[in-house]
Amino acid sequence: MVQVDASPKGVAPDTGWFAVDLSRRTVLAGSAAVAASTLAAKPDMARAAAPKAGRQVPGAYRMAVGDIEVTALLDGYLDVGRDIMPTAEAGERDTLLRENFDGREQLRLDVNAYLVNTGDELVLIDTGTGDIFGPTLGKLPAQLEAAGIGPDRIDLIALTHMHPDHIGGMVTKEGDAVFPNAAVAVSETDQAFWTSEETLAALPDQFKGFVHQARAVSKAYGERMDLFSGAADIAPGISAVPLPGHTPGHTGMRISSGAAQLVIWGDIVHVPALQFDRPEWTIAFDVDPAEAAASRARILDELASDRVMVGGMHLWFPGFGHVAKQATGYRFHPARWRHEV
Ligand SMILES: [Zn+2]
Repeated sequence: MVQVDASPKGVAPDTGWFAVDLSRRTVLAGSAAVAASTLAAKPDMARAAAPKAGRQVPGAYRMAVGDIEVTALLDGYLDVGRDIMPTAEAGERDTLLRENFDGREQLRLDVNAYLVNTGDELVLIDTGTGDIFGPTLGKLPAQLEAAGIGPDRIDLIALTHMHPDHIGGMVTKEGDAVFPNAAVAVSETDQAFWTSEETLAALPDQFKGFVHQARAVSKAYGERMDLFSGAADIAPGISAVPLPGHTPGHTGMRISSGAAQLVIWGDIVHVPALQFDRPEWTIAFDVDPAEAAASRARILDELASDRVMVGGMHLWFPGFGHVAKQATGYRFHPARWRHEV
């Protein structure tokens, strides 16, 4: 019946597409009718009860930066009080949250880490929280596993800073290294600050654990701790971007391959619904709030001007996107789903 191969383009043959299409429709309609009557006869089969999953599939998402592959890994989330930002004016803060359709009483901070495959090495940028902050966090090992990577395969851990939500995933309860073969690149300034007696003495009791955690990491990785300063090269294709203030050695990681670039900026923004509009608003965890705000202003301006993609540990997972200047402040444009990495 179908003799359309030889017909010239645009000319409907006697038994052309239209006729074929009609006959196919008839066939389809016929099978639909059969299906409907089958379902009517067996109503139980039509309503297969599936249990609701109640949770997401693994949080691992990849993007290419030139020849380098970066995988965002979701460690989980942390809820903090709205008053965590002491310089935010409460009325404006609540208005901005409302404008962002964020009706939560608390601020929900995603905690991300990033795996960088340079082709020669696997570099993990930050490590999530481990078991420090309870059951909403500590998912990084499961995400890594879902991405097909065991902890023994990580060659290098590059730290943005030594806060517990970034280094908590590095040591076990017993104090052993979770990543047995990894060296650790960390700012000399940050490591010195977070392991010092002076910091321990100066911190209020509820934050003294920060020092204990930094010391536990330094002890577990020992000789494998590789201290850097300033805009050092961390690995081929990865270089440090000093962004001090949140902590004294707080550092972003610039990933470059050819013309492609991604800056993973650590904790430049903790609350995306607020700090793009109001980059001068600081968070209670900032060691030097004024310096933190200055670093944020500088890197936002640079990345918006250069149109460079960012990734961030507390941006909405997977945390990739662009920053655009507005009349006042900035706007974050989360990256669209990448079909081909
Ligand atoms: Zn953090």
